[in-house]
Amino acid sequence: MTAIPDDARVAVIGAGFGGLCMAVALRDAGCTSFVVFEKAGEVGGIWRDNTYPGCGCDVPSHLYSYSFEKYRSRNVRFPGQPQILDYLRGVADKYGLRGHLRTSTEIVAAEYAQETASWTLTTAAGERMVFDVVISAVGQLHRPHVPVIAGQDSFAGRAFHTTGWDHGLELTGKDVAVIGTGSSAAQLLPIVAERARHVDVYQRTPNWVIPKPKAEFGQVTRWALGRVPALHDVVRAGTYLAADLALSPVISRGWSFRPARWAALAHLRRQVPQAELRRRLVPDYPIGCKRIVIDNGFYPSLTRPNVDLVTDGIERITPSGLRTGTGEQRRADVIVYATGFRATEFLVPMKVVGRGGRSLDDQWSDGADAYYGMAVPGFPNFFLVHGPNTILGHNSNVFMIECQVRYIMKCLSLLPGAVEVTEAAMAGYDRWLARRMRRTVWSAGCLSWYKTPTGRVTNPWPAATMRYWWLTSRNPRPAFTRRAPG
Ligand code: NAP
Repeated sequence: MTAIPDDARVAVIGAGFGGLCMAVALRDAGCTSFVVFEKAGEVGGIWRDNTYPGCGCDVPSHLYSYSFEKYRSRNVRFPGQPQILDYLRGVADKYGLRGHLRTSTEIVAAEYAQETASWTLTTAAGERMVFDVVISAVGQLHRPHVPVIAGQDSFAGRAFHTTGWDHGLELTGKDVAVIGTGSSAAQLLPIVAERARHVDVYQRTPNWVIPKPKAEFGQVTRWALGRVPALHDVVRAGTYLAADLALSPVISRGWSFRPARWAALAHLRRQVPQAELRRRLVPDYPIGCKRIVIDNGFYPSLTRPNVDLVTDGIERITPSGLRTGTGEQRRADVIVYATGFRATEFLVPMKVVGRGGRSLDDQWSDGADAYYGMAVPGFPNFFLVHGPNTILGHNSNVFMIECQVRYIMKCLSLLPGAVEVTEAAMAGYDRWLARRMRRTVWSAGCLSWYKTPTGRVTNPWPAATMRYWWLTSRNPRPAFTRRAPG
């Protein structure tokens, strides 16, 4: 356990997977004066916000859980959104975090005072509070991206983003337009297609889709998991190793790049018998360039008689539906924007001002960048969980969060004073990152939420997670300095 001054005033922003993990570590270290700010009324982050039909995780639950609070179901391999939210609520209760939580409190600004080495946080309601340390754990995939499409205000039906699902709306007998074909669209389509009269799926770019194992364990595994408790750890370790050894090489065109492509094409051939439809579903960019969709229900839903894949583009939205690029008018009573998130904006809309009045917005004007995703020169005692280049499409993000929390706790053990990553350490890390990025498939031409509009890859970690674990296991010295206030 890392020792930190027990009177250190620590603010954690966000009560999703990252913020709760940070809170447990602070509590375990004996820190009593920490506060977790959450803009919503409950913990859970994206697993509270996303309630669209079919929402769940495509990373197995045994791995998509904290190492200190393992998810040990002998039935469920892939948890649904309600199960993950229950898990996170349970963590907040079991680890006594509720007393540290300030819900319905959005932090809009953080400003550093050099003389006192402290941060002043301002809430949306205008309240100001002073802390020694600020740890942002606001996540990357929570700012909905709703594209601007000509005529969208004229639409006479209901329209919403996947994060704002209208559960009061009955889809039976309705014509539904789903814009987007990423992981969210893939998960919701089978259920929407069952209910609606007709569904148009508007695809701008096809995704690579690989098969997903069954959501529930089979009889034999259930029996074994019920009788051999250690087997849960074996499943967790095996899943982790399989993902790191087999999936992570895909991103750097390693040994599994071609097999992953074959698996995706075979999945498509198996699930879509119609050659013409299949042709429109084959991506023209390398697998892994966009987040791979892991799913079994999307392709079969596209072959249903009441579902059409529309690939002619969207020219405009009209009061009664959508007009495609070929001028065809297609009816819709409901538009679902499965159009993803403004992931590269990171801390937006929070204003962060560090040492000497420097603004994080300015510093990140060409894309967010932080030392192993966690610290930025000029911003002492300010740390990030889920920061730039830490998210994964090939393993469990919870594993990455735990690496960050451990490392941040080591940085906090350097307190009191102003703990800051050096310019030299940051420059060295940036050189490594740039070299590594050149080897990844993300350098290819595809567009995704991994990249800024100028093409800088700011979101995913470009290597195996074991490497991140090893790099963040090191002592923060000498990359970090400690200065006395003033
Ligand atoms: P996404 O992967 O970013 O997909 C957005 C979709 O909307 C893409 O197909 C995109 O097309 C399309 N789109 C955006 N703007 C458009 C426009 N103006 N016109 C037409 N189409 C447009 O978003 P997501 O599906 O919500 O998933 C985001 C991420 O959340 C995932 O990559 C994943 O990391 C995470 N997620 C995970 C799970 C899970 O099971 N673990 C489930 C859901 C989501 P283009 O490709 O052409 O841009």
